[in-house]
Parts: sequence; C-alpha cells; structure tokens
Amino acid sequence: MAVPDPRRAVPRTDVVLADQRLQPAITQLGTARVKAAVRSAQEAVRRQELPAGLVVDSVLAALSSAPGSMRQVINATGIVLHTNLGRAPLSSAAIQAIGEVAAYVDVEYDLSTGRRAKRGRGTLAALRSAVPAAEDVLVVNNGAAALLLAVTTLARGRSAAGRVGDSAGSAGSAQDEVIMSRGELVEIGDGFRLPELISAAGARIVEVGTTNRTNRADYQRALSESTGCIVKVHPSNFRIEGFTAEVTVAELAALSGDVPVVVDIGSGLLVPDVLFPAEPDVTSTLIAGADLVLCSGDKLLGGPQSGLLFGRAELIERLRRDPLARALRVDKLTLAALEASVSGPPTPTARYLRADPDTLRMRATALAGGLPSELGALVVEVSGAVGGGGAPGVELPGWALSLPAGYAERLRAGRPPVVGRVEAGRCLLDLRCVDGEQDALVLQAILDAGGFA
Ligand SMILES: *Cc1c(COP(=O)(O)O)cnc(C)c1O
Repeated sequence: MAVPDPRRAVPRTDVVLADQRLQPAITQLGTARVKAAVRSAQEAVRRQELPAGLVVDSVLAALSSAPGSMRQVINATGIVLHTNLGRAPLSSAAIQAIGEVAAYVDVEYDLSTGRRAKRGRGTLAALRSAVPAAEDVLVVNNGAAALLLAVTTLARGRSAAGRVGDSAGSAGSAQDEVIMSRGELVEIGDGFRLPELISAAGARIVEVGTTNRTNRADYQRALSESTGCIVKVHPSNFRIEGFTAEVTVAELAALSGDVPVVVDIGSGLLVPDVLFPAEPDVTSTLIAGADLVLCSGDKLLGGPQSGLLFGRAELIERLRRDPLARALRVDKLTLAALEASVSGPPTPTARYLRADPDTLRMRATALAGGLPSELGALVVEVSGAVGGGGAPGVELPGWALSLPAGYAERLRAGRPPVVGRVEAGRCLLDLRCVDGEQDALVLQAILDAGGFA
C-alpha cells in the first residue's frame, strides 16, 4: 500500500485564513502576521509534526504568545552572560518596571511643578547611592558608547571643539591624543576592537610599553600638551601571565597631572565581590584615583544593556553637554530596568553566578530520574562560566545532565527552545541559569525531543 503523501493533507492558506476563528486575530494583528503563523503551521503539517485538523488551533496558539521574531529560550549552557542569548536576563522587578513605564511616564517631567525635570533622575540617584565614591554618573547605550563619549569629549582636536577659524598655527594645542598601553589594545569579541573605536572617535592613540610590560616612565614620556586623556582598559576576556608589568590606576593618577585618567573596567561590579577577586570594581577604581570609570550595565551588574560612567562631576557634566551624548542616551525602559536592577532584589545574574553545586546536582539527578533509562542520561560534573567577556579565569563548579549529542539540535528546535552545549560528543544541560520552576519544562522538552511524549 502506498504511503499517503502528507503534503496532500496541508490545508490551503486562503481556506485557513477564511476560518471564522481567525477573523478577530486578522483584524487585530493584520493579515501578514496571521499568514506567517499559518505558513509555519503548514510547514509543521508537511513535516508530519502537526495533524492537519489542528492548523487553526496551532495558529491561534502561536498568535497568543508575544509578537515579534525573538523567542524566549531556556539557557542550559551554563554560561551566565551569554552574549548570543542577550547577556543578562532581567529580574522580575526590572521586567515589572519596564511594563510600568511603557506608558506615558514622568521620565523628564516634575509632577509637582508641571515643568521639565532632569531625565532619569531616579535611576541616577540609585546609581549614586550604590557608588558614593562617585561625584556624578551618566548612563548611555552600552559600554562601547561610554568609551566613545569619554574619548570624544576629552580628546578632541581644536577644530572639533568648534573653534572655527582658529586653527592657524595652533596644531600644538589640539588635545586629541589618547595614551594607552600596548597590553590593553584589546578586542572584546566579534571583531569589536577598542583601539578602532577610539580612532573612530577622532582621537590619536599614543601606544606605550609592550604587550607584556608597561611602566610609569612609558606613560611619563608620552604625556604632552596634546594629551587629551589616559585610557586604561581592563583586559576582560584574557590574561597575560609570566614576565608582566602594568601601571596601576593609583600610579597613573599620581603621574598624570591635569590629564584625566579614564578607566574602562568592562564588567560593571560596583563594589568588590569575593567571587571575583581579580575583577576591578567602580568604587575601588575611583578611590584609587581614576577621574572617570566606565562599565557595561548588562554584564556582572545584571541589568539591561547600558553603559555607565562614574566620576568627577566636572567631567561628567562636560560629557553630558557633548552633542554626542544626545545620540547615545538610553530610553525610559532602560532607565527603569537599570534602577530596579541596582536597587531591587538580587538579579538573576547574581543568583546564577552563586548557584549552589549541591542543588544543581540534585536537580540534574531528579531530571535524569524522570527520563526513560534507554535514553542513557547521566549526571556529570561540569564547570560553568561567567561569559560575556568577564572574569576569564573563574570557573563555576556545577553539575549537568548529559544526553546523547543528537539531543542538542532537537532541543533547540523545541518549544520553548532549550540551548545546551555539546562537549566530547555529549549534549550537556547545565541548570545553573535555569530557574527551578522551569525544570518541569526542561524535562518535557527532553521527552518531546526523544519522541517519548
Ligand atoms: C564588554 C566591554 C566593553 C564593551 O561594552 P558593551 O556594553 O558590550 O558595549 C568595553 N570594554 C571592556 C573592557 C569590556 O569588557
């Protein structure tokens, strides 16, 4: 007997679109979006994953979830700040705050006087009270924007400063040089190189020292009338060991004179953290003498994508008044999420970084116990990672469920997609970044992927 061609059973698009049950969705969401959902349901029927009779139900279910092309995934990679998965997941407090301010909101308005007020003042106050060592703070789009703004403002040439017609014979007065150690000319990831960003800002980098060693005299020799600032960068994602030397922030502050010392610490710890003894933090860096400290908001801080600048009030004010600041400013959603992340309950990032290995082992064992034995699931010791270009030497001890490698792809195709990692021919699911309530979802996803449903 011939096997029936499953494509025969696929209902036609116009027939599905004419179904009464879809009319409210077409009116509300538009034909294009409903049609796209119909297409993917038809595909599922072709792949024999959906009975033809359930096409409309499947379309309705797909449309009832949030619109948009990005899909929520379960991060079972064990990498807490996974850049490809959007870095830091937000806390419930931050998500709630975003929902609250999505409407009209007094972001730049004083309700008592009915006049304009300072934009995002509550968020700035929260950051200032988290870092009392900072005289002032500014929030921009991301860490890269923070560096761009700092360099553009502090190391601009005379013509760029807008003194039109005053360029003759004044080449020596342009302060467009940025002094940087050769050991800190780093690439952050995906081709993003800090020196290229600094050059794009119109500044000239004066490289000092060597890859492994830079000393005070190197900086001293490079300082001149043309120096706009000294930039020190924390090499977030690699370590140089052995015969090395670098100049500390305190030493730079002592030798720099009037020249601002700008320190890009990358990760965004506001205060020291015993879990990451080698990571610099904003407070200690300011106390050591930095004039400006920059970091990302969505790395170890666990907030929304943003770039934070802390430091001397006079410098922050110059940055704030730079025309570029307007192009790099954050929206109200970011301000709200950042405030909740800084002053609210511990962020998911903080919780995942501190996940207790014994609890991870128990959860993985419970999952394994819920699976058919023929699947061959094991519970294995693994180490998770901070990720996101932070704390490169730090390993986070934990346990993972180990499945045959073929599960990785099938789990990614599931609903919700579960993203694990493949190591030594096995698919590892690390529950470090999975909230306990989601374990049942993960179990169901594995059963579905294995066809055990
Ligand atoms: C991550 C990082 C950046 C870039 O920050 P984004 O928020 O990703 O733009 C810049 N400098 C350092 C040292 C970093 O670690």
